[in-house]
Amino acid sequence: MIDLKRNKNKVLVPARGKRVMASSIYSPNQATKFKISRGKFSDYLTCKRCFYLDRVKGFEVPGVPGWTLNETTDLLLKKEFDSCREKQVPHRLFYENNLDYLVPFSHPDMDKWRDALRHGLMINYKDSNIILTGGIDDIWQDTKTKKLIIVDYKSQAKLGGIEIDQYLSDPFHLGYKMQMDFYAYLLKKMGFEVDKTSYFLVCNARRDRQDFRGLFFFDEVLVPYKWNVSWIEKNVDAMIELMNQHEIPDPNESCKNCAYADQYSYCISTNSTQSLYNF
Ligand code: SF4
Repeated sequence: MIDLKRNKNKVLVPARGKRVMASSIYSPNQATKFKISRGKFSDYLTCKRCFYLDRVKGFEVPGVPGWTLNETTDLLLKKEFDSCREKQVPHRLFYENNLDYLVPFSHPDMDKWRDALRHGLMINYKDSNIILTGGIDDIWQDTKTKKLIIVDYKSQAKLGGIEIDQYLSDPFHLGYKMQMDFYAYLLKKMGFEVDKTSYFLVCNARRDRQDFRGLFFFDEVLVPYKWNVSWIEKNVDAMIELMNQHEIPDPNESCKNCAYADQYSYCISTNSTQSLYNF
């Protein structure tokens, strides 16, 4: 997509392709602390080259438009759950799902943990200089066992609704599971007892309605997921090893952006396009 650079007054300015804030760029083998968010770890898992160019070489990654409708469901859900959190009572969805022994977890740091940009769940990784962070949507608590339950809100608009059993087997939702695993890892390392079952609270906008009239209607479904943190450390270790090397790793061969960039470079330098087919 086309992403034009603007300053804080929304005026167009030249795009340079690199960040200027030195603290957001990692130098191989640096000794000072450096934060890696859940999103950047996910980038590493998706494409090691892009992660390296971003974190170590300081490339400025083109942005995507804000997900304001999704953010609105998150915001309104947060208000609902915070109201129950304050009173320490079950949310209406807990009654509907036979989970009336749960309450939203109350903790003085909850707002910090939900602030993905500035804080989030946070640990120092082993004895390294890497700090891992991850901004969660919510945490609930089992009032019987006192264990914490990780929750992630998801908004979508799929015709035909949500099939709970199928939801997480969609290849596009693999990242959701990894996201939950990462949060469970952080929360456990922070010293909390975490229930093995986490939940995706999926809000699916109804597309089968006859009119709009300024209203969206959603189905709200709880999709349970048993998290698994066994794969995380070996990948974080490998990520740190990569950050400390000087060699640029291979790209993801399925990435359309890199294919576009290849075609772009070739076209600009030769004024022709590369043919992918031999006719
Ligand atoms: S393959 Fe895609 S994600 Fe990886 S470096 Fe190229 S553009 Fe970035």
